[in-house]
Amino acid sequence: MALPPLAQHKAPRMLPDLPFDPACLFLGGAWHAAADHLPVSDPSTGQSLGRIARGQASDIDAAVSAAQSALAADWGRFTAVERGRILTRLGQLVHEHVDTLARIEALDVGKPLGQSRADALALARYCEFYGGAADKVHGATIPYLDGYTVYTLREPHGVTGHIVPWNYPMQIIGRSVGAALAMGNACVLKPAEDACLTALYVAHLAQKAGLPAGALNVVPGLGTEAGAALSAHPGVQHISFTGSVDTGAAVQQAAGRNVVPVTLELGGKSPQLVFEDADLDAALPFLVNAGLQNAGQTCSAASRILVHASRLDEVSDRMAAAYAAKTIGAASDDPDIGPLINARQKARVLSYLEAAADLPLLAKAAPPDGLPDGHYVPACLFGPVPPEHPLAQQEVFGPVQVIIPFATEDEAVRIANGTDYGLVASLWTRDGARQMRLARKLRSGQVFINNYGAGGGVELPFGGVGKSGHGREKGFEALYGFSTLKTVAAMHG
Ligand code: NAD
Repeated sequence: MALPPLAQHKAPRMLPDLPFDPACLFLGGAWHAAADHLPVSDPSTGQSLGRIARGQASDIDAAVSAAQSALAADWGRFTAVERGRILTRLGQLVHEHVDTLARIEALDVGKPLGQSRADALALARYCEFYGGAADKVHGATIPYLDGYTVYTLREPHGVTGHIVPWNYPMQIIGRSVGAALAMGNACVLKPAEDACLTALYVAHLAQKAGLPAGALNVVPGLGTEAGAALSAHPGVQHISFTGSVDTGAAVQQAAGRNVVPVTLELGGKSPQLVFEDADLDAALPFLVNAGLQNAGQTCSAASRILVHASRLDEVSDRMAAAYAAKTIGAASDDPDIGPLINARQKARVLSYLEAAADLPLLAKAAPPDGLPDGHYVPACLFGPVPPEHPLAQQEVFGPVQVIIPFATEDEAVRIANGTDYGLVASLWTRDGARQMRLARKLRSGQVFINNYGAGGGVELPFGGVGKSGHGREKGFEALYGFSTLKTVAAMHG
């Protein structure tokens, strides 16, 4: 279906009226004034959007206490069916507010409007999925010695901490908080300092959906303050962290002192492997868009394109032509590529581009003249790039892709597996035996055959190996992660 012209997607460049004060914390089912604040600005224009709370360790204490109280009161007594109904209702409310959520996200994080809308729809879908799944998680009966009955129970951890980055706030809240609530945990959510507004909106909708006070608490603030306090808090029984490798390691260390399990969803340097028999017409949109979506600020961005030498020129030319057609602009105008999240991220990406001056540049989609003063960078495609080059090894987290040629299947696997990461990989080949062989050989949490990402399905377990992290979120698997197993053995003769 043809997309409507760009103008129809444009949205006003100001925040809609919010039904809560975004400078507040959400604790125990109520909005509380914060002692200190952080400024919020629009990455597309640099203009101020107001301020959010700068939560402190004392606010994390209050949030954990509120969560404990919820577990000791109504929320702790809700049946799985009741929890599921609330999540399903929340999903419906998110659906009703999709356009508002998308507008807020586009302004707050600079994500193009259409991509922000897709995130809001994914959040609704997570709520629906975990709402439906809440009463379908059960234990087992275990055949044992004569005179015994043995069974297992799946129970919530208790208070769960959720530390979320700025690149996909709604999706990550959906997959981690959604699964945690389905299992009966009470959550303390620390959104990223650059992306708090939709998190607060979710709290507002959750309250409307009937979530009891304290089951979800939101403490905006800095990672080094609110985030560090949450990961080290002795009242927290599980931490779900999504973000960078170094911060993930620090969170794991802090939680380790309380012997608390941690799910780490970290970065990636994900490859797509294009073999000599690939259907390039089918592959091309995935090769390009999976690298440039959200301006490349995606943990599972396809930042490495590995191409059989016989198709190198064809892939390089066609990808370069696709880059030339990409639009860059303000998120509210719904371009293909918006600004980066902040000045720090822009400086980081530009420094990678400077260090890549020795590499052949195949395509450069530059921001057009006349854009407002936002955090824009050009989208760049390099190739051929040696697999050991820093640009082929390190996560840039910007609209930058490298093409790496290979000669044999073994070499392709060696290059694909040759970074510290292992989050997502895909292969493009019509050879069924090769598909099965490589699905096993690729060191990656997800492998896609003749596609990339499978539309991001909420049903599909997701997580990494190596420095991409450990533990799985999404799908049914997450419900096991957000619960603990108790074995009951009754001796009755
Ligand atoms: P980041 O690690 O700087 O921040 C992530 C979150 O951690 C934020 O909420 C931040 O406030 C908090 N934080 C920062 N310092 C902290 C500390 N000392 N203690 C506790 N919390 C702290 O990451 P980022 O730059 O916001 O996000 C980008 C990274 O996230 C990329 O590396 C990307 O690959 C990764 N990511 C991974 C996934 C995944 O599912 N695997 C998804 C999205 C993003």
